[in-house]
Amino acid sequence: MEELQGRWHDLDRLLLRPGNLVGPGFEPCAELRDLLQNDCKVLVIGAGGLGCELLKDLALSGFGNIDVIDMDTIDVSNLNRQFLFRIHDVGKPKAQVAADRIMQRVKGVMVTAHFCRIEEKDVDFYRQFQIIMLGLDSLEARSYINSVVCSFLEYEPDGGLDYSTIKPMVDGGTEGFKGHARVILPGVTPCFQCTLWLFPPQITFPLCTLAETPRSPAHCIEYVHLIQWGQDRVGEKFDSDSPEHMKWIFEQAVKRATQFCISGVTYSLTQGVVKNIIPAIASTNAIVSAVCALEALKIATMCSKGMDNYMMYVGTQGVYTHTVSYEKDPNCIMCSPGVPIEVDCSCTLQECIDTLLNDQRFKAKLSRPSVSFQGTNLYMQAPPILEELTRPNLRLSLLSLMGGNPSGGVLNINDKKLHGVLRVRVSFSKEMDTT
Ligand SMILES: [Zn+2]
Repeated sequence: MEELQGRWHDLDRLLLRPGNLVGPGFEPCAELRDLLQNDCKVLVIGAGGLGCELLKDLALSGFGNIDVIDMDTIDVSNLNRQFLFRIHDVGKPKAQVAADRIMQRVKGVMVTAHFCRIEEKDVDFYRQFQIIMLGLDSLEARSYINSVVCSFLEYEPDGGLDYSTIKPMVDGGTEGFKGHARVILPGVTPCFQCTLWLFPPQITFPLCTLAETPRSPAHCIEYVHLIQWGQDRVGEKFDSDSPEHMKWIFEQAVKRATQFCISGVTYSLTQGVVKNIIPAIASTNAIVSAVCALEALKIATMCSKGMDNYMMYVGTQGVYTHTVSYEKDPNCIMCSPGVPIEVDCSCTLQECIDTLLNDQRFKAKLSRPSVSFQGTNLYMQAPPILEELTRPNLRLSLLSLMGGNPSGGVLNINDKKLHGVLRVRVSFSKEMDTT
């Protein structure tokens, strides 16, 4: 196939020239383009609004091996922004159509589609990629991928990170005119778990505000939706897909707003509040995705220093961006060398397991933990033969099982509820001196 003339002109300016802004160890050379096109495998998770943009940006940036995974099929409402899809694609898998269309349009790129849930792929599937790009809209899916990627991490006994086990992730997210892009190097920069507080809880209004002191058009709409409907239309179930129901909510909300001298209740706002819709904006997806693709290019080639480590974008009034260097949680249950727990010197393995099961931090993450220390199985829940063999250890002192070192060490916990290993850093509290 004949290469379009000048096709790689812009990329070559980044890859063939030295500079002050290059990343550590960068050596300008033509082989970097080969590396992008042949050796670097990138996974794009999600083929929706962000995913379409990401696939296009990565392909045009020279990435030659891209996989995309998405469980959804194309809906007619996607077409205004998910530009890889056409009206005759409605009902088909997003991942497949997106992959085919990129390959039609960008010569020489191989896109492999996976039409399934992210949980259906095993850990080794995710391990094969050099970079994982997230174009997701749910916190649950992000947390799942985060736990998989953090499970790759390996630490030396002294807590030093094995850098070859880092799987870089680039995450994009958009909500209306706002968005973010972040670079996650698990074990080095904060993982999702470290910064879960960044995701605010769903906004709900206190009922007393709705009933007594409404201050915004949304308050008036929610009052009619949550309270007045049940009073005026007793026994009727509200259906947010019924235009008549929605119109009624809108009209009553206008009346209520007038009563409290509040303006701004519209039919579309009513729909937005009641259905909890945040409009998807194509330009936000394009901007956030461009930032993410550029970070992937930097990670793959070191042609520039990477973003450190979280960029927020606000497009409501003008264009505003701000980049913050968030910090790791040193005790993160996903990415840290070990979550600290303190047990008594006389603690048995069984008591230690009970302590873990009762610990708030691991709640809902453990059901039947198996425990190992420096490659030795201390207790295995399965198979039965190993359970029987290791069961006597439950009554032994943990301190002696861990080699008698009073400063403790790191236990590896496996559990069928976990996607990877949970590292727990045990320290022994000093025995009470009773003399
Ligand atoms: Zn973390």
